[in-house]
Amino acid sequence: MGFLLPKKLFGIIGYPLGHSLSPLLHNWGFSRTGIEAVYMSWPLQPEKIEDFMNGLRCLPISGASVTIPHKLSVRKFIDMETERATSAGAVNTLYWDGEKLVGDNTDVAGCYTPLMPYRDKIENALILGAGGAARAAVSGLKILKIKNISITNRTAEKAEKLAEEFNITKVEWDDRGKTKYDLIINSTPLGMSGERVTLCPMLMENIDENTIVYDLVYNPLKTVLLHEAEKRGATTISGLEMFLHQGLEQFRIWTGKELDPAEARKLLLEQLK
Ligand code: NAP
Repeated sequence: MGFLLPKKLFGIIGYPLGHSLSPLLHNWGFSRTGIEAVYMSWPLQPEKIEDFMNGLRCLPISGASVTIPHKLSVRKFIDMETERATSAGAVNTLYWDGEKLVGDNTDVAGCYTPLMPYRDKIENALILGAGGAARAAVSGLKILKIKNISITNRTAEKAEKLAEEFNITKVEWDDRGKTKYDLIINSTPLGMSGERVTLCPMLMENIDENTIVYDLVYNPLKTVLLHEAEKRGATTISGLEMFLHQGLEQFRIWTGKELDPAEARKLLLEQLK
């Protein structure tokens, strides 16, 4: 009896990788669409990025997801970058266009797609945090043509830098609860499972039934921020939606196939429960 080897190889690089949901999503997608491929988890320490990228060019690797801490460092080792990766200043997806290795960013689409149904209700938005996820959030809100975008961060200079780069407003971290916003996006790790699980990144006094609160953290599914927002009647969106849509977009890039978001969400929810 012979072994059936998959024809294509994909994977995720990051460090630490923990319990990434990406292998589950993509391997499910391959089996759902009858594609003979496998997606693996490749924990990769920061100092090994160059070795990995050289290896990628000689091994039969069809594509890869890139997560923290490699989203910036991979940019040096690719042949081309998509416009949306350049605008987000980060790469989370690698694929081949013929002989050329392309760096793309699906976090941007992942971040704004769950907001599309609410687009007409959002005039002003506040983003908490100024790291990689915040950049994807600002780029996404620009694509949705949200008029007034503000950013606040514990380290003021980082918010200032992003505000200047994207021509948006910087708000002092201590003033983040003072104004009423239609949309609040949390892109800090506050509320994540572990030591920070009880921490709420927002001052809640101006949040009510007209506010949309979107937490990019997805573990736990209902963070302290979402719990507090729900108590005030706000509409809440979990970070699982961003994860789901960035993953579906990666799958589309690599295979040209669409996966059903409802079925994929069910799969991820079952895993997180
Ligand atoms: P990052 O580049 O390290 O940025 C983290 C940001 O959080 C920084 O602005 C940092 O502020 C702020 N921060 C960290 N600890 C804080 C604290 N104790 N109090 C206040 N602010 C604090 O990380 P990232 O890539 O943007 O990711 C941020 C979070 O987004 C992740 O933890 C993850 O949960 C979530 N995320 C979700 C998805 C998804 O698919 N749903 C995708 C990417 C990220 P300083 O500048 O002051 O350090």
